[in-house]
Amino acid sequence: MLDKGITLSSFRASMHNLDMGCCGCLSFLRKPRKSPKRLNASSRGSHLDVDLLLKDHLDDADGGTYYGERNETRAGTCASHTSSERVARQFRGYTGAICRETPVKETHHVNRSEDEHGNKMINEYVRQHKIGAGSYAKVVLYRSSKDGKNYAIKAFHKSHLSKLRVAPSETAMSDVLREVSIMKMLEHPNIVNLIEIIDDPNTDRFYMVLEYVEGKWVCEDSGPPGGLGESTARRYLRDIVAGLIYLHAHNVIHGDIKPDNLLVTNTGKVKIGDFSVSQVFEDENDELRRSPGTPVFTAPECCLGLTYHGKAADTWAVGVTLHCMVLGCYPFLGETLQDTYDKIVNFPLTMPQDMDQDLKDLLERLLCKDPRLRITLKEIAEHPWVVREDGPIPGYTCRCKRMCAVAKCVSTAEDST
Ligand code: ADP
Ligand code: MG
Repeated sequence: MLDKGITLSSFRASMHNLDMGCCGCLSFLRKPRKSPKRLNASSRGSHLDVDLLLKDHLDDADGGTYYGERNETRAGTCASHTSSERVARQFRGYTGAICRETPVKETHHVNRSEDEHGNKMINEYVRQHKIGAGSYAKVVLYRSSKDGKNYAIKAFHKSHLSKLRVAPSETAMSDVLREVSIMKMLEHPNIVNLIEIIDDPNTDRFYMVLEYVEGKWVCEDSGPPGGLGESTARRYLRDIVAGLIYLHAHNVIHGDIKPDNLLVTNTGKVKIGDFSVSQVFEDENDELRRSPGTPVFTAPECCLGLTYHGKAADTWAVGVTLHCMVLGCYPFLGETLQDTYDKIVNFPLTMPQDMDQDLKDLLERLLCKDPRLRITLKEIAEHPWVVREDGPIPGYTCRCKRMCAVAKCVSTAEDST
């Protein structure tokens, strides 16, 4: 049974009624009131496993029931999320357009079976193997018996989500609701596409069927001792920036840009995934408090517990990612959480003397401690190091921009009749 407070019906209502808009039409999703990030007494100076400074999830055994929780480095999300009830209320009654050609499919029955080889199946999807584990879910590769394509399925237990408190009156359900709601509105070549939601009222399982991005993570080649090489790093950066420009244009702050969440296709295209800590803001004011991302990717202004601007914080995380890609190491990493934050806030950026001057300039501007002076995504798109091989990052006309243009044409034609 699910907790009464976060009922399955409210959960499903949000799934049914969610239809999100863009071009500033996301005002129904209010910016959550976030409390400032503070290192509590136990985390100050305490020694954390370095892994915790780099990751935001725990592994579980393949195939086992998932009962993971967000780790302490991310526990800052407490008190920062809208309740799922409020999220669901906001979704209800909203009938705006979405920035997608194809709406996300919604399926309300789960048939768990086995194929002739004994492989587990969920509806038409045949289980292959586990590919990842996150804060609330495990991610498993499935092959569709209908179209023969691979899909990454993120599987949740609703009862677990509804019991897992992230704040005194909120559960992890609101995090997942927000992740789904954001992904339901987006479609871009550099964003992982949500294909289907499977939510059967008679079972405890809830599934997000995602396009499978088969290539390896940006991070895999970027760890010490060397980086990816400038040419690959440049291509990846261009994709990341293109995806992020689209997100920011739709008032979405990703909140956790890092190699683990940047998937690479087998043709070498980067897709931004994992919207589990993303936020939508109502207007041009992208002010947030408390950052739930991953410590080594956290911007200095977020470490200080001050109000910060989500777009600039995402841009800092792009800088850390680029640093990893070209140098194979993190720019600011300490022994403890506090030490890492101290380095991010106070330590100057050091780079090899023989580094390409344009690249050095770009990294310095991305990892600029003052968010007001930090380079913007638009400036990155035109930066000399970025444009070197293929020119400036081209603009992207999304569905809602096209729809706006069509609407304008229609009304102009009607005016003139
Ligand atoms: P979390 O919020 O728990 O970190 P993610 O969405 O990042 O969850 O998924 C966890 C991991 O699962 C990712 O780091 C990645 O390795 C894998 N994964 C997630 N989505 C996909 C996908 N669409 N294709 C391939 N692998 C994926
Ligand atoms: Mg992740």
